[in-house]
Amino acid sequence: MAVIGGGNSGIEAAIDLAGIASHVTVFEFMPELKADAILQKRLYSLPNVTVLKNVQTKEITGTEKVNGITYMERESGAVHHMDLQGVFVQIGLIANTDWLGETIERNRIGEIIVDNRNATSLPGVFAAGDCTDSAYKQIVIAMGSGAGAALSAFDYLIRN
Ligand SMILES: Cc1cc2nc3c(=O)[nH]c(=O)nc-3n(C[C@H](O)[C@H](O)[C@H](O)COP(=O)(O)OP(=O)(O)OC[C@H]3O[C@@H](n4cnc5c(N)ncnc54)[C@H](O)[C@@H]3O)c2cc1C
Repeated sequence: MAVIGGGNSGIEAAIDLAGIASHVTVFEFMPELKADAILQKRLYSLPNVTVLKNVQTKEITGTEKVNGITYMERESGAVHHMDLQGVFVQIGLIANTDWLGETIERNRIGEIIVDNRNATSLPGVFAAGDCTDSAYKQIVIAMGSGAGAALSAFDYLIRN
């Protein structure tokens, strides 16, 4: 298995996958991993994980199924191909919230800041899902927060 990305989400995925895959290779573009030290420590304690740093992934190969990955060592420019059976791209997502401008408070990575009732900094506006500063980006979390936002909106309307 390959995990592309050495940030927190990539290293968490690699640790998870190492429990079920025979081998996991992490491909990190930068010379160092960006994940928290505690995650790196756990990762490096695993016997079936290889970390490749300063590499640029060029191509995922395969016809009906993934069969490999082509990558380049950024310093030397040398291109290699590795046979494998699966690729997990964990290079991070950016919340599509720029259109909000200054109307609603967002954090440094653009996520909408909500309270425990899904209220934003603008009265009467509620937010839910991955675009908010919720801790986990999962379907069940997004759905739960959607229900919370809808209930809060209803509550707001009957009081105003
Ligand atoms: C590769 C991958 C694998 C995943 N696997 C899992 C998994 O196995 N299990 C799990 O629980 N979660 C998984 N997730 C996470 C899950 O997909 C998200 O947590 C969930 O989809 C978030 O739902 P959402 O409604 O908040 O956002 P989204 O599903 O991203 O929906 C947002 C919608 O808003 C639209 N949109 C964006 N900007 C605008 C705009 N300006 N105007 C109008 N519409 C707009 C988008 O087109 C999109 O349709 C995975 C995510 C990825 C990327």
